[in-house]
Amino acid sequence: MATFRPSGLREHVVAGLLRTSLRLLLKTVLHPRFPIGFQRRWLAVVARTTLIPRGIQIEAATLAGVPGEWVRRKNAEPVQSGSLLYLHGGAYCIGSATTHRSLTGRLAKFTGLPVFALNYRLAPEHPQPAALEDALAAYRALRASGPVVIAGDSAGGGLALATALALREAGDPPPAALLLLSPWADMVPPPTEPAPVPGEAMLSTAWVTACSALYLNGQPSEAAMASPLRADLRGLPPTLVQAGTDEMLHPQALALHNALQAADVASTLDITEGRWHVFQLHGGALRSADDAIHRLTRFALTALAAHRTPTQSEHETVIMGAGMSGICMAIQLQRAGQHNFVILEKQPGLGGTWWDNIYPGAHVDVPAPVYSFSFAPNPNWTRRFASAPEIQRYQQDLAERHGLLAHLRLNTRLTDAKFDVTTGHWHFTTDNGDTLRSRYFVCSTGPLSQPRWPEIPGLDSFTGQRLHSARWDASVPLGGRNVAVIGTGSTASQLIPPIAKEAGQLHVFQRTANWVLPRPDRRYGALDRALAHFPPYAMGVRWCWTQVLEWGRRGFDEGSMARKGMLKTAAMHRSRQVKTPELRQHLTPTYPLGCKRIIYSSDFFPALEKPNVELVTTGIERFTPTGIVTTDGRERPIDVLICATGFDAVHLLADVNVTGCDGQTLQQAWAKGPEAYHGITVAGFPNMFLMLGPNTATGHTSTLLYIEPEVQHAIHCMKAVKAGGHRWIAVKPEVQAAHNAALQSRLQGSVWSQCNSWYRMEGGRIVALFPGFTKEYVQAVLKPRLSDYRLT
Ligand code: NAP
Repeated sequence: MATFRPSGLREHVVAGLLRTSLRLLLKTVLHPRFPIGFQRRWLAVVARTTLIPRGIQIEAATLAGVPGEWVRRKNAEPVQSGSLLYLHGGAYCIGSATTHRSLTGRLAKFTGLPVFALNYRLAPEHPQPAALEDALAAYRALRASGPVVIAGDSAGGGLALATALALREAGDPPPAALLLLSPWADMVPPPTEPAPVPGEAMLSTAWVTACSALYLNGQPSEAAMASPLRADLRGLPPTLVQAGTDEMLHPQALALHNALQAADVASTLDITEGRWHVFQLHGGALRSADDAIHRLTRFALTALAAHRTPTQSEHETVIMGAGMSGICMAIQLQRAGQHNFVILEKQPGLGGTWWDNIYPGAHVDVPAPVYSFSFAPNPNWTRRFASAPEIQRYQQDLAERHGLLAHLRLNTRLTDAKFDVTTGHWHFTTDNGDTLRSRYFVCSTGPLSQPRWPEIPGLDSFTGQRLHSARWDASVPLGGRNVAVIGTGSTASQLIPPIAKEAGQLHVFQRTANWVLPRPDRRYGALDRALAHFPPYAMGVRWCWTQVLEWGRRGFDEGSMARKGMLKTAAMHRSRQVKTPELRQHLTPTYPLGCKRIIYSSDFFPALEKPNVELVTTGIERFTPTGIVTTDGRERPIDVLICATGFDAVHLLADVNVTGCDGQTLQQAWAKGPEAYHGITVAGFPNMFLMLGPNTATGHTSTLLYIEPEVQHAIHCMKAVKAGGHRWIAVKPEVQAAHNAALQSRLQGSVWSQCNSWYRMEGGRIVALFPGFTKEYVQAVLKPRLSDYRLT
């Protein structure tokens, strides 16, 4: 069971106002003292105060003769096959598709699925089994064209459950999932009158009893269609039961979840504290309602993914990769009025590097206020150097808030991308057999997505457990075992301290000693978080950190004050933290500061001094099935091998066949190493935009400061194509060549050319790094010089 606790002053104030209004306006009228006809009309009036989301279209229709309405996202193709059948609440006597538009609209918008809200027949004119017959007919009609999720609230939740049971009995294909919101799944009156629920804003025992009598029309209340909670629930599809604690039906939600679990159904119980019956109707006003609908969305889309079949679709833009830059691009495309895009992500979740890098201790190495987008500050960071799970939550939250789940296809790896010069379209295939066509192609996979394994003889013969830091498997036990870590870069410096606490013996294999500066981390307290809600404060903190990091760029210039300060700090940090002279000697770098990424850590050196930790500086000769042999002939037995050996940033996009003009592939174009214009566009590959492409990495600041202008650059290019009625835009080859010649001459002789790192190719060419200040890059990139481009 997952319990969610709404927070925030605004949320509490709005919730208080809504609860009082509902009690006054609705609970008093939903009572047997008023005729059903009046209750229906009154509910229709009150429902007009709920907020229907923008960007959806509603169309009256019938399904198998049953009326209802289609609710769809505007101007966008669904990215997943399937649909959602919605059964509204209202105690089987009142309510309609119209009264629930705020909820069906959000479900359509957030999931991207077409939603059919059914106007099933109501009691007392049409007692049971009319509603069930209508739901079955509508489901069967929808199911003919793909998998269906059935969702319903209150009586609609009970009806959804009864429909799933009836389908099982009839041998029909089951729904892909059930979403049951505060379901009324048991009409049998309790032996004693239940105590009133003080927070209940809508329902009363008198009304529920009266409506159940009208629906049952003399039939037993134990019947499955009235009380599906009491039926045999085996064989039902994955089910999400969602409710609030302040409602009469809260105990029923708990009982239903328990019954489903007892029947081996994959049931998830999702409870929001302090919320009333079907609070999800107040999306747009209550954040807790939107959050609950996002959880319904995630559940529905995950369930539908299991039923996926290859699809063909057309979009304006295909985005490859759902990391920071993919998310930023998607949000800004929406802001620019482009809604028909799809994000393809090979992993089962979004986050990119923050989905992959979940090793113990993973965190960002720049302060979190600069590791959030300028347009989406995060007041909830719990520490200055946020952890990987916290960053992934920020990304998930951003994606949900901007409705990106509806655009996201997970577990989908792009295999081929081919440009058609005559039409100006990209054609794609994926490993699932999907085919897509789009005008624009955004590659947002970043430079650090391909893990690099060490090229050491015998690696494959090692029979112990083997992990790469970027493909972590948390199920591998480390406690008390012999663990080896290869590498002492940024990643290793983060994972060694927590692993040193756990491992029996930890051998750290260092090839090169690195520069380490203290990490000024601290926990953000309640005051920090309260202030962070105040935009001028949040902007001020972000600006200050940006300037501090920018100052750090000066540290790469020989003789600068910044460099002198950094060298002194590094030496003091080392001598203060490393007490053993011999160890200190081994940890003293021999290459110029800044040539490789500087490590910011205050716990790496102390971890190396622990008695169960050995720093091995003798080179590795080979692996044996059970250990590592160093060049001095000594073998260390190893249970678990952890390679923190970094990434291949040179063979960018090597796992996708990208073909541009004249049949040239990206690998051919980049035979001498990757290069692009400002790291964004590549000559011969029109309408394609790289995010964090070649020569855009930084050694001193947050990559997000580079992503935002890159996104704007790409969007300006797209707008130029559209405005001029063109088919494509491509950077002129001579412009790209001149740009890279200037870049490489600046990099020659720079600090980064004086050692080996992931910034450089084997021949020494620096392909990853931008040499200047952030300001310089932003100014050059923010608005493209269209004379550098060819528009066709
Ligand atoms: P890395 O900086 O490339 O470090 C790889 C380490 O593995 C180095 O110590 C390297 O030694 C060692 N290594 C590689 N092959 C080896 C071999 N065959 N034998 C022995 N040692 C070997 O990789 P990383 O630590 O994963 O960091 C990569 C980048 O990711 C960083 O520069 C940073 O930009 C980013 N990163 C960011 C964060 C963050 O918080 N934002 C966190 C982690 C990483 P040599 O130095 O001798 O080559």
